[in-house]
Amino acid sequence: MTSLAISGVRVWDGESEERSIEPLTIRIEGERITAIGSAPELRADAEVLSFDAATALPGLIDAHVHFCIDPGIRTPEAQDEVPFEERERAMEARALAMAQAGITTARDLGGGAWREIALRDRIAAGQIPGPRILCAGQPLTTMRGHCWFWGGEAVGEAEIRAVIARQVERRADWIKVMATGGITTKGTNPGDAQFEAAELRLAVAEAERHDRPVAAHCHGTEGIRRAAQAGVRTIEHCSFAGGEGFGSGLDPEVVRSIAQGGAWVSPTVNAGWKRFLDPEPRLAAFGARMSEVLQSLRSEGVGLIASTDAGIPNVAHDRLPEALAVFAALAKLSNRDALRSATSESARALGIEATTGALRPGLAADILVVDGDPLRDLAALQRPLLVVARGRRVPAAD
Ligand SMILES: [Zn+2]
Repeated sequence: MTSLAISGVRVWDGESEERSIEPLTIRIEGERITAIGSAPELRADAEVLSFDAATALPGLIDAHVHFCIDPGIRTPEAQDEVPFEERERAMEARALAMAQAGITTARDLGGGAWREIALRDRIAAGQIPGPRILCAGQPLTTMRGHCWFWGGEAVGEAEIRAVIARQVERRADWIKVMATGGITTKGTNPGDAQFEAAELRLAVAEAERHDRPVAAHCHGTEGIRRAAQAGVRTIEHCSFAGGEGFGSGLDPEVVRSIAQGGAWVSPTVNAGWKRFLDPEPRLAAFGARMSEVLQSLRSEGVGLIASTDAGIPNVAHDRLPEALAVFAALAKLSNRDALRSATSESARALGIEATTGALRPGLAADILVVDGDPLRDLAALQRPLLVVARGRRVPAAD
């Protein structure tokens, strides 16, 4: 077993108020952290990587990505025209770029052919570098509903059960359900609910029977209400889309019901949302509405987790470090809380807190070392010096 020692780093463990006061050493044996401290023995018989004025923090978690989608291609039809081999290589390149950016865990919330599950397995087997991946396979959707082209259409109870069983058989870790229409699927409306409340309850119960948590795609308020009441574990987007667009359907009662149900919200704020912090009135109005949504969720105690929806047009897979600052600005999170939303809090939401999301002996060695102090300035996240994913050094970007 190889031993690695990351030395001379101020450690932020993913939870604490501050970094360690002293520079410390993180000792890694195989895939795990075995010790964190200042004793010189922690460096004995190990490959030592020494730093100065650097911070070690848990590798980041992007709670909503799509490995199979090329963000440079606008339509699902055009995605399918890319030759199979080329798509495979592109997915591997995305995984590598994410790991190089410090993203050591990602939840993939949908594709049509389970190729992201094969990618997950190749990375887990150590064949190629990349983040730990949790997969949902084909999202459950209605007839010609959001992302129907991925193969998860279901009408009635028997088909809902069959679609879920198929994902479990393909070894998906999560079940994704499209509780409203979406922007990218022609003929659907983001504001409209898909599935009746009873159907969503059935989907959650069925997923639970297979020991799988549920992530619900939700833009419109009624879809959010139904998903929250059905007991899904994470609500994606949560845009409160109403008559006047995103955020205009904000309903305090629905926010309370999310809090009561204990779901986390994964608002998919990508780096491009920087434009909504702009003073231009139309852009600023959108930013202000989404900011109100996020603050309203926080004030009721709803947990927020960082996510980008990487893969959708113009959202590259490796930009969570940049997106986190935009998320913090919109949700009015302190830098520390923004970092928690991408580490320890996200790990809890995803049910992997006994594996990753913090720097602690016994947990996976998923470690990001950056130049500077991200608790003072999130821009430090964009200066990665070293990434270790499950004990393996990720090859540096060119
Ligand atoms: Zn998505």
